[in-house]
Amino acid sequence: MHVVLVGAGGLGGPLALALAAAGAELTIYDDDVVDASNLHRQLQFTLDDLGQPKAEVLAQAVRRRGGAAKARLQRWTAELARGASAPKGGNVGGDVDGDVSVIVDGSDDPLTKFAVADWAAQRRIPSVVAGALGLGGNVFVSAPGAACFRCLFENPPQEAASCAQAGVLGPVVAAVAAVAARAALGLAAGDFSDAGSIWVIDAWQAPRRVPVLPRPGCPGCSDSSTRPLQTPAVVA
Ligand SMILES: [Zn+2]
Repeated sequence: MHVVLVGAGGLGGPLALALAAAGAELTIYDDDVVDASNLHRQLQFTLDDLGQPKAEVLAQAVRRRGGAAKARLQRWTAELARGASAPKGGNVGGDVDGDVSVIVDGSDDPLTKFAVADWAAQRRIPSVVAGALGLGGNVFVSAPGAACFRCLFENPPQEAASCAQAGVLGPVVAAVAAVAARAALGLAAGDFSDAGSIWVIDAWQAPRRVPVLPRPGCPGCSDSSTRPLQTPAVVA
C-alpha cells in the first residue's frame, strides 16, 4: 500500500513510523526545517537535525528501520493538488509514483488540511485528516460515499491558532497520531467502518468517535466532477 503523508512534524513522525512498520510505502510532503522549538513533540528529530528538511530526516528515519519512504520538500497546496491529476489507480501528477491507497494529513495548517481533504474527495481516495492543539485534537476519517471534511468544517477558519502560538502538549500529538494511524491502516485494508466520522481526543479522556452525516450540497463531495470548489483566501 502506498500512503501519502502530508506533514512531517509532531503528528507526521509517529504516523510515518507506525504506517511504515505496518508495511506502507510512504511519500512524505513537508516544506519546513527542524527547529529547536519542535523537539518536545517531534520525537523523530534530535539536535543534530536542526535546520534539516523535516521530510527528508523523517524519510531517513523510516528507512533506517527497514521501511520505504520518499521525501517531497514541498507544501501540499491546492495548486499542487490540482496538478496531481489522477483518478484512483493512477499516478499523481508525477509527484507521487504509483497508486495512492490513503492520504493522511498531519499538518498544522488549515489550508493544507482542506487541500488534502478536497483532493481526496475529488479523486475518491480514502483520507485521514488529523490535528492537535493545546491539550487535544481530532481525526477526521473519510472515504467515497461517506461524509467529507467539508461536510463538517465547510471552509477554512478566518483565523486559526497554530501550535507555535497556542502550544501543544507533547504527549497529545502521539495520542492523536496513534488514532490517525489506526484509522489509516483500517482504510488501507478496506475497512471503512470509521469513514464519515471524527475522533475527538483530549488529554484526560479516552478517544471518542462522533459520526458525521454527508451534508447535502457539500461542495467537497457532491457533484465533485462538475462543481468547482470555492477556496477563499484565508490567512491561517
Ligand atoms: Zn462533503
